[in-house]
Amino acid sequence: GLNGTDAASKYANSASGGNGTVQPASGFKVLVVGAGIGGLTAAIALRQQGHEVLIFEQSKFNNELGAAIHLAPNSNGVLRRLGIFAEDFGANPMQALTEYTPEGECTKHIDLDGPNKMWQHPWLLAHRVHLHDALKKAATRPEGQGKPAELHTSNRVIDVDPEAATITLENGETIQGDFVIGSDGVRSVTRKKVAGRDVNLFSSGKSAFRFMITRQSALDDPITAKFAQSPGELIIWFGTDRRIVMYPTTNNTQLNFVCIHPDSESGAGGADTWSQKTSLEEMTKVYEGFDPAMIALISKADKDSLKAWKLMDMETLPTWVRGKLALLGDAAHPFTPHQGQGGGQAIEDAISMAVVFSGDAKKEEINERLNLYEKIRKERAETIQEYSRIAGSDIKAVGQNNMQTYTVYNFGHDEYDNS
Ligand code: FAD
Repeated sequence: GLNGTDAASKYANSASGGNGTVQPASGFKVLVVGAGIGGLTAAIALRQQGHEVLIFEQSKFNNELGAAIHLAPNSNGVLRRLGIFAEDFGANPMQALTEYTPEGECTKHIDLDGPNKMWQHPWLLAHRVHLHDALKKAATRPEGQGKPAELHTSNRVIDVDPEAATITLENGETIQGDFVIGSDGVRSVTRKKVAGRDVNLFSSGKSAFRFMITRQSALDDPITAKFAQSPGELIIWFGTDRRIVMYPTTNNTQLNFVCIHPDSESGAGGADTWSQKTSLEEMTKVYEGFDPAMIALISKADKDSLKAWKLMDMETLPTWVRGKLALLGDAAHPFTPHQGQGGGQAIEDAISMAVVFSGDAKKEEINERLNLYEKIRKERAETIQEYSRIAGSDIKAVGQNNMQTYTVYNFGHDEYDNS
């Protein structure tokens, strides 16, 4: 049997051949359900290990969504090893962390230039759409290591047979693979097949407004210029039960906002989709009483770009694997955004999956190897998920206890970076 760390290191060694060269793998046919950040990263890593990858994505990708996303050292390190350098598509390093009271009094300022140099890989702030695009290209482009992954958009998966390793599409077609990765996000359909029942999502109790403004618009206004002067500065205004997080992305040309508050106050009633619209009036009402300079900042938002986002949570699953199906990313462990690790943990899952399917893997070992993937990943991902819950549950205490600072150092530390 493949047990724990010894087995993990055995497969990790066989992946690198012990001397940095990749050994030929058996070339399984892998069906990936969902081309989000996790599914695409898995496709890149599996392709590089010599597997044939077919990805099925429900959307058309005509208008990919999202604002900014953290690439902390742990996830940035994985991407770099896969040949993806986020600086190439405008991700900028996080250089400072500053905290204010709602009234605008500065309570903390940490220079992150030092830690960024100390960590093996810098902490980057990326635009999700640019990241997604880069991952899609790396998974599917003809050049590069291994066979390009086939990406089938507008192909919603409606069923999976975990024992047979087949998926069924909305048009009735059934496709046979060697194993299936369920990377279909927070509202996963593959999760039900692993759990053997419906797994209900519930609200984490918080909702968020999301939008971006240009950094120049903040600099042009004498009232707000001070917030935009330093490149790479992440600012948090901590209220009692609400907070506003702002950070730059896209070569420091845009400022991304996530404003987190109790569900009950969410303007549009909160929606468990990524594209629910809201209004400036609703936003300023929820953050009434905050520093007028901060309100001036959020008032610069383009009113058509404002999104209300309900932050969902879910019970911890007893297992992520059934037969030849394994869950990955938000399908396995939906993340609240309070520590910027949802994408990072999906990326870590993806690389771990490729590591356990390296070397001379045999078909008879598929379930065993998927279980090994779960063993490597579950405790770590769910521990970080729990930190994220804590960080979101008591916003004021989190500020007082330096949770954010703790997070910055924790996830950026070399020990984690190398794991
Ligand atoms: P996701 O990135 O959610 O990807 C899941 C994919 O599966 C999606 O492309 C979905 O269309 C597809 N899918 C779902 N069901 C099916 C099905 N039945 N058949 C085929 N395909 C299916 N995080 C942030 O920090 N900031 C953001 O601004 C942000 N915006 C987002 C916008 C969108 C549209 C999405 C989908 C996610 C966004 N996230 C954002 C979340 C973040 O990307 C994920 O939480 C994290 O990266 C985990 O990635 P994942 O691959 O597990 O899931």
